[in-house]
Amino acid sequence: MCTPVGHSLAGAILVRNSRFPFSFRNGKSVLGLLVVANLPDIDFLFGWIAGNPNQYHQGATHSLLFIVAVSVLAGWGYSRFHPTGTFQTISIIFGVLLLHLVCDMLGKDSRTPVGIPLFWPISDISLHSPVSIFGSVYKSSGSSQFIRSLFCWHNMRTVLGELGVMGVVYAGLKIIGKRR
Ligand SMILES: [Zn+2]
Repeated sequence: MCTPVGHSLAGAILVRNSRFPFSFRNGKSVLGLLVVANLPDIDFLFGWIAGNPNQYHQGATHSLLFIVAVSVLAGWGYSRFHPTGTFQTISIIFGVLLLHLVCDMLGKDSRTPVGIPLFWPISDISLHSPVSIFGSVYKSSGSSQFIRSLFCWHNMRTVLGELGVMGVVYAGLKIIGKRR
């Protein structure tokens, strides 16, 4: 998995390089982007309530079914109140959510089952990239220590790695964009 920093940056890079009308100066829009980019990890909350934040992590909320359902509902709802096309809004939300799943598959995962159940409920098989480009994330299994456990040197190194990868991707896209 990636940290919220990595997921947020990945979503921001996608939106920045899309044709979706988005203002990084609008606080509400940025908050919406942060929520969507990290939404599949809401499964930590379900586990946290049950006493083990990791219990349901990388389960159903990391499936194509979940992100399609969220994209359609949120995209349709958003476009009712904004002058953006419904399909365009659904597409950008789906893209940001899909990028979350891709980044998770590219992150080191030591917890079994390794990977994410992309095709749940049709298949329970967990998928993961054979090559990891993001580091692992340490997180306590105890609800009371969970938040504090995230702020450790191991996770700081993972965040630095994510900043490096996202920086390279951002710069690469900028160079490609200038050559067009
Ligand atoms: Zn995730």
